[in-house]
Amino acid sequence: MSLKKVPVVIVGGGIAGMSAAHCLAKEGRDFLLLEQSEKLGGVIATKKGGPYFLETGPFSFLPKAKLIFEMAQELGLQEEIVEAKESAAKNRFILKKQKLYRLPLTAKDFLFSSLLSPWAKLRFLLEPFAKKPPLEEETIAAFVKRRAGQAVLDNMIGPFVSGVVAGDPYRLSLSAQFPIFATLEKEYGSLLRAFQRRKKENRPKQTLFSFKEGMESLPKAFLKKYGSQVRCNTTVLEIKSILQNHPVILTTPAYVSAKLLRPFSEVLFQELASIYYAPIVLVHAAYSRNQIGHPLNGFGFLSAAGETHPLLGSIWASSVFEGRSPKEDVLLTFYFGGAKYPEAINWPDEKYLEVIQKIANPVLKISGDCKKYWIQKHEKAIPQYFLGHQKKIETIEKETSKIKGLHLVGNYFSGVSLDEAASHAKKIAQSMRRPQ
Ligand SMILES: Cc1cc2nc3c(=O)[nH]c(=O)nc-3n(C[C@H](O)[C@H](O)[C@H](O)COP(=O)(O)OP(=O)(O)OC[C@H]3O[C@@H](n4cnc5c(N)ncnc54)[C@H](O)[C@@H]3O)c2cc1C
Repeated sequence: MSLKKVPVVIVGGGIAGMSAAHCLAKEGRDFLLLEQSEKLGGVIATKKGGPYFLETGPFSFLPKAKLIFEMAQELGLQEEIVEAKESAAKNRFILKKQKLYRLPLTAKDFLFSSLLSPWAKLRFLLEPFAKKPPLEEETIAAFVKRRAGQAVLDNMIGPFVSGVVAGDPYRLSLSAQFPIFATLEKEYGSLLRAFQRRKKENRPKQTLFSFKEGMESLPKAFLKKYGSQVRCNTTVLEIKSILQNHPVILTTPAYVSAKLLRPFSEVLFQELASIYYAPIVLVHAAYSRNQIGHPLNGFGFLSAAGETHPLLGSIWASSVFEGRSPKEDVLLTFYFGGAKYPEAINWPDEKYLEVIQKIANPVLKISGDCKKYWIQKHEKAIPQYFLGHQKKIETIEKETSKIKGLHLVGNYFSGVSLDEAASHAKKIAQSMRRPQ
């Protein structure tokens, strides 16, 4: 049998597994995808709560998510893609001391924003004169403080880091988590200068995308196309016997891959098992529109670093995409926990509702309780790229290369977004063109 005809076994049917499979199929290679749960998608899931659409995993993807667009198109979802309402794309807020501040997205907005004091703005404008980077790896917090000052860290970048990767900027590695900033600093010597230059290039507009019926449309369309090559409800407990006959792409989370690979390498086990996943709790809350005094004219808010509660932020789901709730209602999603407040994962339901009432009700001018709520807990939601992550990945790659036919893919390698996980899968699938 020629190598091309031996089916590749893919373990895990999240975005990484589906992307690897789709890429192999495009190259004419056969695959079999094994997924432990009853449905595909991994953390991608859209639930129906009566007339409300609830995203219990990723909410949207960005214009730069080229592979997600490409895959959606090739799976026949072109007409299903929806863009965020304009106000949601333009307005994001920061919650600071019981007040919402619009996040400045342009230089003019920045100068007139009251989010930062005049002193903090001046400090930011001195960014081109910042100290040179240290020789050793820096945390995101150290980088931002060095270049733009503490206030920019606390009020702009810190909330973004907590909101997007559920992380703590004081522990995350800049070069592992957001390598683009390290690259821009190297190339342009200053972030302000880099943004100024890049603004002139044709950069994609600030917006977001999803599907009419929610993010789960993607795994559903995948299953429709490749159903005969997918086995759901199939938990892989060992891979030695599979590897005897097939190349394997392992796309399970690092802590699962660690256990599966222990029989091959203790080092691999240790490195994979030591990747920390931060927990996240999502509380979807539906209200009558007339219960809310705030216009909800935006994407939502992120909490500033100085806030002492574990409410990371809120997405105003029904303000972002059409059809997420009946017109007379609104649907808000509140995010709790992350690496800074992992204990929030163990709270009883009432405690989340109490915090929403105490923190969000006054700023959004909400009167009374929500009509309905749904809670989704992800105990191990997002891998954290702490200092030393890149070294860890190098060791993992080196150890993996010693195991014939084995390939690892996932969101713990080179970015946690859907697109980054898909890109990593594509890169690995393409590398398999070479004989094993
Ligand atoms: C709450 C939340 C919100 C997010 N929001 C966004 C967002 O808005 N935009 C964005 O771009 N990204 C977002 N992300 C990040 C992004 O969704 C994830 O990083 C990405 O989907 C992870 O994909 P994956 O395939 O690597 O892993 P997973 O989705 O975890 O998939 C792994 C799969 O492996 C399966 N599996 C595990 N063990 C076994 C086994 N032994 N045998 C067989 N199968 C097994 C699992 O069941 C699962 O289906 C969010 C993540 C979370 C948790």
